[in-house]
Amino acid sequence: MTADIDSLDRADPLARFRERFAVPEGIVYLDGNSLGPPPKATAPRIAAAIADEWGKDLIGGWTRHGWIDLPLRLGNKIARLIGAAPGEVAVADSTSVNAFKLLAASLALRPERRVIVSERDNFPTDLYIAEGLVRLLDRGHELRAVAAEDLAGATDGDAAVVLLTEVNYRTGRRHDMAALTRRAHAAGALTIWDLAHSAGAFPVDLHAAHADFAIGCGYKYLNGGPGAPAFLYVARRHLPSFVSPLSGWLGHAAPFAFEPGYRPAESVARALCGTPAILAMLALEVGVDLLLEADIEAVRAKSIALSELFRERVERSCPWLALASPADPAQRGNQISFAHPEGYAVTQALIAQGVVGDFRAPDVMRFGFAPLYLRYADAARAADTLAEVLATRAWDRPEFKTRAAVT
Ligand SMILES: *Cc1c(COP(=O)(O)O)cnc(C)c1O
Repeated sequence: MTADIDSLDRADPLARFRERFAVPEGIVYLDGNSLGPPPKATAPRIAAAIADEWGKDLIGGWTRHGWIDLPLRLGNKIARLIGAAPGEVAVADSTSVNAFKLLAASLALRPERRVIVSERDNFPTDLYIAEGLVRLLDRGHELRAVAAEDLAGATDGDAAVVLLTEVNYRTGRRHDMAALTRRAHAAGALTIWDLAHSAGAFPVDLHAAHADFAIGCGYKYLNGGPGAPAFLYVARRHLPSFVSPLSGWLGHAAPFAFEPGYRPAESVARALCGTPAILAMLALEVGVDLLLEADIEAVRAKSIALSELFRERVERSCPWLALASPADPAQRGNQISFAHPEGYAVTQALIAQGVVGDFRAPDVMRFGFAPLYLRYADAARAADTLAEVLATRAWDRPEFKTRAAVT
């Protein structure tokens, strides 16, 4: 078995990427779906930006180093990962704020309709943002959050927009983006896809799915660093009618004309609001560039192989443990989840042994398989450590049961 796994690692076409990341020695990092690890090139890039760009050119850096163009330039790179065209993606703000902007713009495009359709088990911020917008508009809108199997039925003639996360954060289950978009369009509704667990994890094709809008996260599979800027996608056909509710000056057609009235930029820059966080964007660019070097089809193939190796090994040693993800890898993203009533303590015991996954209430242990820095040997070690922690009840200690602020 060990020899088999070593040979898988030796034959791995992505193996060379591992040394490009700073993952601490002895750690199996299965939480890149929550916070990707730093590429080794990030620290020198940021140090150089501070010393050579900001430090030497000061305010001239906005022009001389192209900082002002960074939200769209980096957006064009992310576009290649998500099946979008140049000029359709901007990097800005957080995923939550971008959800607000796109939801408000979508409702404005369907003024006669009042319903936002989403999934009850969607990532909460998406639902909270929708709730807040409904309250703010105060025009009788409704958030209709239903079970995944009821989505098609809930998307009727009242639906203005369908807001969904392609890969469920808890279970890793992946929606059929093209089919649900078709269903939404047949009902006359728009779609917003949250790609937080998709971008950089596997090939995404927004154009093939005819998606209207999308948002995504910079600090998960894009490895941009804690709180990295997020991105948003506006299909070119919607650009002329897309109106951001956050009409800040950098979304203006001529920010430096300092006109008294708002005129949106023609490009996707109209989705920007305030001054971009340049240092954070430069860090994100390093992560995105690294992903663009890899063949994303190979990334997907290896993530399936890693997660299947892990799943099969765990199921062999702990057949009673409940799989909380689809067994069919085609129906999930990069992540495998198992449910356990003491999932939090089990996760903490695993972390104490160097296997870093995470926990999502009420009982889900998540293990993300990001192929650029994980080896087959890591997947095997993670499975064996999980089996051992469960067999020996190593989790059954008070210090593993005290919940931290971030789980
Ligand atoms: C991680 C995640 C977010 C994060 O939102 P932020 O505003 O960047 O904190 C949003 N949506 C989903 C589905 C996520 O998984």
